Amino acid sequence: MSDVTTPVLKVENLTKHFPVRRGVVIQRTIGKVQAVDDVSFEIKRGETLALVGESGCGKSTTGRVILGLMPATGGSVQFKGEEMAGLSQGALRRMRRHIQIIFQDPYASLNPRMTVAQILAEPLSVHGIAEGSAADARVRELLQVVGLLPEHARRYPHQFSGGQRQRIGIARALAVNPDLIVCDEPVSALDVSIQAQVVNLLQNLQRQFGLSYLFIAHDLAVVKHISDRVAVMYLGKLVEIADKRTLYAMPRHPYTQALLSAIPTPDPTSATQRIILEGDVPSPLNPPKGCRFHTRCRYAQPRCSAEEPLLRDAGGGQRVACHFFETIPTAVSIKPADTAGSKFDLRLAAFEAAKKRGATVDA
Ligand code: SF4
Repeated sequence: MSDVTTPVLKVENLTKHFPVRRGVVIQRTIGKVQAVDDVSFEIKRGETLALVGESGCGKSTTGRVILGLMPATGGSVQFKGEEMAGLSQGALRRMRRHIQIIFQDPYASLNPRMTVAQILAEPLSVHGIAEGSAADARVRELLQVVGLLPEHARRYPHQFSGGQRQRIGIARALAVNPDLIVCDEPVSALDVSIQAQVVNLLQNLQRQFGLSYLFIAHDLAVVKHISDRVAVMYLGKLVEIADKRTLYAMPRHPYTQALLSAIPTPDPTSATQRIILEGDVPSPLNPPKGCRFHTRCRYAQPRCSAEEPLLRDAGGGQRVACHFFETIPTAVSIKPADTAGSKFDLRLAAFEAAKKRGATVDA
């Protein structure tokens, strides 16, 4: 049973491994790609949790397992207090109605042979919500909610700009009145000016409909603007989770510090220095023992390669998976003075400007 205090989503010890097989006639499993390993987090009602990390860190796989698009290898995913593993196909389909996705690529995610009206009416029909004139009315309502016009219903996806197509993708996700939307890099394929409009549209819709977002992204300016809390992944593991202000002001994990230090600053005398990570990201097929980050960490000690660090409480809701976070300097902080005039700062300003203009701009 769920009440208002029950998290919309609770992920516990989620693991997703992909077997690696060899052989043509007789296939043998010779290893496994550890894409997601022992990941736990919660999302509250109306909250945005950003999942960040380099390409290949497992953040998109986490989103797809939560959506039920691929089975978990282990762990638990609870939606509004109800365990999703073990549900019958019918029950899973009913639950999936409440968890929707917005894809990264608005060009590839819309069927080019369907009109916008057909695209938006399809989930209404699949879930038995509306047909005929009721579906037409809902389509018009959805178009208006995302800042498009009623006449757009008759057009095909190729007749829209990238930003408009992403608005259609958002309308499709909203069609079935979801509680949670997994936003998988929803603006990274768009121009910077359009990104701001789409991000602000997502924020307005969140306020209007009480939505929760799992916002998967690698762009730290977008994440700083939209998220309430941020979870950082490295090589399939969660290494740090904290509310947005704490994470950007006082990152405790060396990997988070390196990610944030990569944000360009205009002042060459700034105390904030870029931390260059040595070496490549290790293969998830054979991740390093102990702390997975130890091969690239400038603070690594013998214990790091022998013992895996657990996520530990650092106070104020911040949790860090590092044996030595208490003694590691937290000098890498993103202060307003450091970023004034930088590309990062200009992009944040663009988001604010778009918010003032309103989110119904026809991007
Ligand atoms: Fe670095 Fe060791 Fe902390 Fe891992 S546990 S982040 S290797 S100091």
